[in-house]
Amino acid sequence: NRRGLAAYAMQPSRSLNGREMRLMANIEFIEELDVADQIGIDGIGLFRSEFLFLNCKLPPDEEQQYRYYAAIIRRMAGKPVTMRLLDIGGDKSWLQQQDQHEHISYGGNNPSLGLRGIRLLLRCRQLLTTQLRAMLRAGEEGPLHILVPMVSNCDEMQQVRALAMQIRKELGLQSPLSIGTMIEVPAAVMIADDLAKVSDFFSIGTNDLIQYTLAVDRSDEGVADLYQPDHPAIQKLIYQTALAAKHAGIPISVCGELAAHPDWTETFLNLDMHALSMSLHNILPVRRLLSRQVYTPLLPQR
Ligand code: PEP
Ligand code: MG
Repeated sequence: NRRGLAAYAMQPSRSLNGREMRLMANIEFIEELDVADQIGIDGIGLFRSEFLFLNCKLPPDEEQQYRYYAAIIRRMAGKPVTMRLLDIGGDKSWLQQQDQHEHISYGGNNPSLGLRGIRLLLRCRQLLTTQLRAMLRAGEEGPLHILVPMVSNCDEMQQVRALAMQIRKELGLQSPLSIGTMIEVPAAVMIADDLAKVSDFFSIGTNDLIQYTLAVDRSDEGVADLYQPDHPAIQKLIYQTALAAKHAGIPISVCGELAAHPDWTETFLNLDMHALSMSLHNILPVRRLLSRQVYTPLLPQR
């Protein structure tokens, strides 16, 4: 069966009737792209930037970050790259140990409901500004999309955009700005129509969307049986988000684990997802599955 899969390497990602859906990679380190060269990927749908920050006493400075981000974008040679702003806090603890942020409180007994993702970055302006400067400079090297994690209101997106615009002006950068919302908090789905007005794209983070919707800690073994991706609530939220993106005319993709789940490929195709982003080892199986589906739109077409 492995040999059968190899036939899908370096092939276009499309359905039996020719509908394209990009299959992209979730990566944490640039070295992972060596494997990507043998598979053929349509871009990077999620670069989790926090791994660059782990195991260091101080955050990497702007130059260090810039070099890493620029190397990834150059390596992709014109294919789109989506980089996520730091998503620390919650299960991704790191800053807790950093003494220069002593004044920050991390949400007591419920870190997943505390200062995490964009909430934390907006309170650590220096961290946010440095990362945005490094990313925006790297964006001169090829198509870059910046993804904002843990968004729960429009103001967070507006603040990030305002800062990004200011940095572009200061640095005299030319490349177009693309900032998208990670849809991973149920509230973001409920206000998706409004978020679409302040977002260039959406990317659904199903790992957290499931956790927060079903009130099931994604890392708690004791409730693992209640972590149900096929719960009707999840289906409704995904449909609603796809519909809002369609109405607004912005691209939408999926970057949580569900993106690679074989039971969902057909639904995502039919919901007009522009891309599914997943671990590299899942790309060929999903490409094969996609090639056997017949695209049958589920959303009202504009
Ligand atoms: C998600 O929440 O689905 C996601 C892709 O991000 P992470 O798993 O890094 O929280
Ligand atoms: Mg997440």
